[in-house]
Amino acid sequence: MAQFRKDPFGSAWVIISPERGLEASDFGSASTAHGNEPCPLCPGFEHTTGAEIMALGPGVVSASGADWRMRVIANPQAILHPRAFSIVGGELFRQATGSGVQELIVEHREHTQLDGMSLEHLIDLLKLYRERLNLLARWPGVKHVQLTRNVGRVAGAAFDHPHAQLLALPVGSRWVDEERTAAAAYYDRQGRCLFCAVIEAELAERERIISHNERFVALAPYAAKTPFETWLLPRQHASNLNTLTSDTLPYLADLLRGVLRAINAALNTPPYNMMLHLIPSEEAGYHWHIEILPRLTTQAGFDWGSGFYINPTPPEDAARFLREALAMQEVSR
Ligand SMILES: [Zn+2]
Ligand SMILES: [Zn+2]
Ligand SMILES: [Zn+2]
Repeated sequence: MAQFRKDPFGSAWVIISPERGLEASDFGSASTAHGNEPCPLCPGFEHTTGAEIMALGPGVVSASGADWRMRVIANPQAILHPRAFSIVGGELFRQATGSGVQELIVEHREHTQLDGMSLEHLIDLLKLYRERLNLLARWPGVKHVQLTRNVGRVAGAAFDHPHAQLLALPVGSRWVDEERTAAAAYYDRQGRCLFCAVIEAELAERERIISHNERFVALAPYAAKTPFETWLLPRQHASNLNTLTSDTLPYLADLLRGVLRAINAALNTPPYNMMLHLIPSEEAGYHWHIEILPRLTTQAGFDWGSGFYINPTPPEDAARFLREALAMQEVSR
């Protein structure tokens, strides 16, 4: 049974999961594919995966049929279960049983990643992200909800099939909490949202802007941790997806697809992680966003030991490179 353990030396919780069942020989072979086994998320294998929660059919929302366009299923590799979160143990060895909700969105019938989807499909998918995240945010005792996409084995993808993982947790996320703390301190000092201030300053300076439209901006963050780290942010302040309305979705779909195409063209379709950071409540100091991290480098002992990331690609160069890749797309359209 999975277990949360509180690190007594910091603020982090660690999930210890013997269910993952990794053997010593599984370590150090992250790049090996899973051979020629059939893909369990492809049509025809629905019965072999997690229980279906909902499916979108050819038209409106429908119960699952053979003609589904995208599905939400219980994560077949779930290690957490929606049980009560009760902490036991003293200051040194605090723990709780693994509690949380894990779902998987099967994003397309075919092995078509976000950059290859039609705009219409992508808009429906983003709408589905919003609906599931909003629903998970209402899970009792929830402190953190997230959406993660892993593309490529190196990025930790368990399936080649395009999918997103949804997670609701009874403890906060270390990275979101860090952003939130910095943003709250800025809000106290300046009386405005840190993210809004950064968007305004970046749009004025232009150097790290990759692309933007009326509602969203894509940029290389000033202190990018890894080469080509890319953030997408709504230009209108919002701490969660409640303002991601039907008339706003096409702007996000178009920008996201364009940026992913540029990354794939410029970097030869790299493995990447994509995270959607938000907080369930309304908060003047927090601003939801998407982070894309192409997996081009590995962290070495220096990074792990010191907590410093060494990024060999200045974000200004990365942004220019991706702007040029986007311009090429425009030309070939
Ligand atoms: Zn498949
Ligand atoms: Zn804001
Ligand atoms: Zn973030």
